[in-house]
Amino acid sequence: MNNNENISRLKEILKDCVLCPRKCHVDRTRGELGYCRLPAKIMMDCALAHHGEEPPLSGSNGAGTIFLLSCNLGCIYCQNYQISHSVVGQELSSRQLADVMLDLQKRQCHNVEPVTPTSHTPLIMEALCMARAHGLTAPFVYNCGGYEDSEIIKLLDGMVEIYLPDFKYGLEEDGIMFSSAPEYPRFALDSIKEMIKQVGDGLELRNGVAQKGIIIRHLVLPGRTENSKEVLKLLKKEISTNVFLSLMSQYTPIAKVRNHPILKRRITKNEYEQVTDYALKLGFNNVFVQEVNGYELTPDFDRDNPFDEGR
Ligand code: SF4
Repeated sequence: MNNNENISRLKEILKDCVLCPRKCHVDRTRGELGYCRLPAKIMMDCALAHHGEEPPLSGSNGAGTIFLLSCNLGCIYCQNYQISHSVVGQELSSRQLADVMLDLQKRQCHNVEPVTPTSHTPLIMEALCMARAHGLTAPFVYNCGGYEDSEIIKLLDGMVEIYLPDFKYGLEEDGIMFSSAPEYPRFALDSIKEMIKQVGDGLELRNGVAQKGIIIRHLVLPGRTENSKEVLKLLKKEISTNVFLSLMSQYTPIAKVRNHPILKRRITKNEYEQVTDYALKLGFNNVFVQEVNGYELTPDFDRDNPFDEGR
């Protein structure tokens, strides 16, 4: 199938939505809402050059991030909760989103990166094709939470240059406890396998900037090093140790979980090192790591630039 056929198929799915493993079977084109509460429209918060992604994505000019509303996961600790748990924002047509993508390229961003695309995928891919027809050459980054259906990912073949999935939970019970996402590990692994089939398990760079490939992200949660280790074990067993991993230490409790028995604190240096050491022990050698410090990185989407500290 060509891109247009795949986009038509994706748009058709909105009438009986099975875009993600939740398989809500609602007709979003008639205003029925599923778990993500999104209509059959693109709902955006903001688009900006983001300098806080992994170095090959941010480069010197920034990643072209497009922050979308809602999410098919709804993690209770989400660092972007102001937008990921909301459906109130700008409503865009595919044509308008294509213009947003072209504008990010004009601003010298190294890529265009919708966050989180899963529930918006049909119209995003339509926008991408429109933008390509009008001169978009920057790589397209699919930055998702990992709770994906591999059959949907198959329909993106040939349109996505860089996949940026999370692999949040190796332990299924953690996926249920924190994201109400049954069978998270299986869905994440199957979709990552399909992503790798399309773009390979490496990362192609030009002048240090990613052009094609995959980076798998994992946010280390407090008290859950066993979950992180299980993620690494599963990746080694079912995927590859060549893959680029981004092990993130920036977890910061949002107000909603400040009294949660597990999630109320940041991670310790020791916890983070247990995970990074384990990755090295298993043979992963392409690993992005972060400092563990007291600096709170939670973005504030009430600001014009959510990553500007406002100081
Ligand atoms: S994208 Fe939304 S409506 Fe569709 S299956 Fe997933 S959660 Fe349900």
